[in-house]
Formats: sequence, C-alpha cells, structure tokens
Amino acid sequence: EMNAQAQDRLLLESDMRQGIGAGEFLLHYQPQVDIASNSIVGCEALVRWKHPTRGMLSPILFIPIAEESGLIKELGLWVMKEACSQQVYWCNQGLPQLRMAINISSRQFLSQDLISQLKQVIQQTKITPSFLELELTEGSIMEYVEENIEILEHFHQMGVLLAIDDFGTGYSSMAYLKRFPIDKLKIDQSFVKDLATDPDDAAIVKATVLLGHSLHLKVIAEGVETKEQLEYLTSIGCDEIQGYYYSKPLIAEEFVKLISNEINKSGISTKEI
Ligand code: C2E
Ligand code: CA
Ligand code: CA
Repeated sequence: EMNAQAQDRLLLESDMRQGIGAGEFLLHYQPQVDIASNSIVGCEALVRWKHPTRGMLSPILFIPIAEESGLIKELGLWVMKEACSQQVYWCNQGLPQLRMAINISSRQFLSQDLISQLKQVIQQTKITPSFLELELTEGSIMEYVEENIEILEHFHQMGVLLAIDDFGTGYSSMAYLKRFPIDKLKIDQSFVKDLATDPDDAAIVKATVLLGHSLHLKVIAEGVETKEQLEYLTSIGCDEIQGYYYSKPLIAEEFVKLISNEINKSGISTKEI
C-alpha cells in the first residue's frame, strides 16, 4: 500500500510538472473585510488544480508535493504573476484598488530566488507594491532569524506588505517579532472556530489582538463563519475578517460580481454586521 501511495505521489508530481505549463492551475479569491467600514479591502489568492482526470484538487493535497519536489518555485511564480496581473486588471477595469494577498510556503521563502522573482513580477505586472501582501508562516521566518530579517527588510523596502499567517500555531519569539518589519498578524482559524464556546480560544484571540496592536500591527481573523464570531472579534477591536460568513473563495468573475454589488450598495453591504 505504501508503494502504491508513493507511486501515486510520483504520478501527481509529473502531472504537476506538465500542468503548470498547460494552464491547469487557477486562483480563487476570498475577500478580506475591514470590520469598521464593513467593506472589502483586499483578497487572498488561493490556488486550485483542475487536474485533467482527477478533477479539482485542493492545495492541501498538492502544495506539500510541490514543496518536496521543488516545483513550488515554478508554481509559486505562476501564482504571483497571476494574482498580480489580476489585481492590475481589476484596477484597469475601474474597480477600487484592492490589496492582493498571496501565500508563500516555507521552501519558497527559503529559496534564493524569491526576491528576484518578486521584483520581476512587480516590474512585469506594474502592480503597486503597497497593494501586494505576502502571507508567511511563523515556521518559515523563525528559522535563520538574522538572515530572514534582512530578507524581510528587503521586501519592506520594496513597499510590499508582510503578514504572519496561521499566527499562534507555530512558535514566535516575541524578541524577534518586534524586530521583523511586518504589517499584520493573521489569527489562525483553529482559534476562531470555537471562539463563542471555548473561553480559552476567546482569550487567545483577544490576547493576539492586543499583542498585535501593541506592536502597531493590523490583525485579521481567518475562518470567520458565524455572526457570534464576528461580534466577538468586533468587540475586541480586531481589524479585519476573512471567512465563509462573508464569502467563500470565488473565481475571478464571481469575485468581481461581489465587488460590483458592494459598490452598487454604496459600499455598504446588506449583510448585518
Ligand atoms: P491558509 O493560507 O490558512 O488559507 C485558508 C484556508 O481556509 C483556505 O483553504 C480557505 O479556503 C479556507 N477557509 C476560508 N474561509 C474559511 C471558513 O470560514 N471556514 C473554513 N473552515 N475554512 C475557510 P484552501 O484554499 O484549501 O487552502 C489551504 C492551504 O493551502 C492554505 O491555507 C495555504 O496554506 C495553502 N495554499 C493555498 N494557496 C496557496 C498558494 O498559492 N501558495 C502556497 N504556497 N500555498 C497555498
Ligand atoms: Ca493564507
Ligand atoms: Ca490558516
């Protein structure tokens, strides 16, 4: 059975190698909503693979394979280009300028090429760097800290925004946290999930918002699904939310519809927040 699994993995790897060039990957976009103004201020790009025979595949399945095989470099570059082009395209179509967040996995972050890849994508797509946000995990930046501070400084100087993804699930040294030129903490959905029923989770989320604000960082909560969760996050001063409560990740066309509806309602969603 292990053999079969390993073989299947190899198959997927070689399919992926082909699929990147063949246009089998696509991005979904999930809105990020500013709580105070109840408006969409950005989105997160989430990759999917439309496999020719296996159907739509989740990144949870194929990102680890991309990481282990080194294909993440190619796939990550495609994601960056696609997301930035989309952001610029939407602006050119007259939509309000929205922040585009993309995920950078740890192997991608550790590769030597990320800075030059990013420079290339910014030049080619002409995205305004301050509307591009990189979501990095604690795991990738807390290793080799001194080197990483330099890399992050580089991004910061380019004007790109930096967020720590899945915050609270890895380990963060407070001493380092204050030295990183980051802009935002993203509270992991595992803490948001039981907010309304688990006082410990509520306490962790509240403490994270306080920590973030004390360090002059924005705080966003992911995986927000219910009104109760939103109410609690609002009461503790969390800045932004992302989750099914507002919208699932959408294909580009659907995302544009959502934004257009919001504009038609003069920026105020009918959703009671
Ligand atoms: P993540 O960065 O933590 O992304 C959040 C995940 O939660 C997404 O899953 C999203 O669809 C899902 N989600 C959003 N709102 C809700 C909600 O209200 N409830 C629940 N239960 N889930 C929600 P997805 O799209 O399957 O992505 C899974 C992971 O794959 C991401 O986790 C990220 O680590 C990785 N990933 C996705 N796209 C990329 C990419 O382009 N590059 C890299 N390196 N990793 C990616
Ligand atoms: Ca993310
Ligand atoms: Ca997460």
